Amino acid sequence: MLGALLAVSVLVHNQDAVSPQVLEKSMQIAEKAFRSAGIRMQWRTAQPDVFDADALHLALLPGMAGRRGFESTSPDAGHAILVQEGFATMARVFFGKVEELSFDYHARGYGTLAAIPLSATQPAILAVVVAHELAHLLLGRNSHKPGGLMDRSIQSESVLAAITGKLAFDAGQAADLRFEIMARQLHSGGFESLPLRTPGILECDLAGSSE
Ligand SMILES: [Zn+2]
Repeated sequence: MLGALLAVSVLVHNQDAVSPQVLEKSMQIAEKAFRSAGIRMQWRTAQPDVFDADALHLALLPGMAGRRGFESTSPDAGHAILVQEGFATMARVFFGKVEELSFDYHARGYGTLAAIPLSATQPAILAVVVAHELAHLLLGRNSHKPGGLMDRSIQSESVLAAITGKLAFDAGQAADLRFEIMARQLHSGGFESLPLRTPGILECDLAGSSE
């Protein structure tokens, strides 16, 4: 039904934020979510001072996001940078927030998740944030949808789905993601280029779990 898998390159800039074990596990979970949409993510380690305009860029940063005027009362776990209305290239994920949320899920006892060790929740939450933000790079603004992976807040259902290997985009999101990838592949110039430290428009303010 979905046909051949569509491939997307993701250049990972891990600035000493995430351990190789947690990173590998979360990539596997996020990979599976995209694969459910008929997309194969090709993760590559970014090299210093090399920018690949044809890839999506994922920056994993230690600590928390700055407020940057967001209305949110707490820092966000990640955001996507959109370049005008064109092709977006960089998602930033703040691992400090992911760590905080992982502990939070335990301390507050989110149903089933309370019994699951941090070694499982941490890569799961990271995978949810990574999949959400990378999807924004493809789907652009206005791609939030209540419930599931593209909710504005991290849903405990999504974290649980990630832990149990069932994290997935819904059918509409899968179709939109595939359409966007095919449209970009037809674009002769590939993805629009964006210098790495150039601030763009912060579209997504993926917040922590809602109360
Ligand atoms: Zn978002």
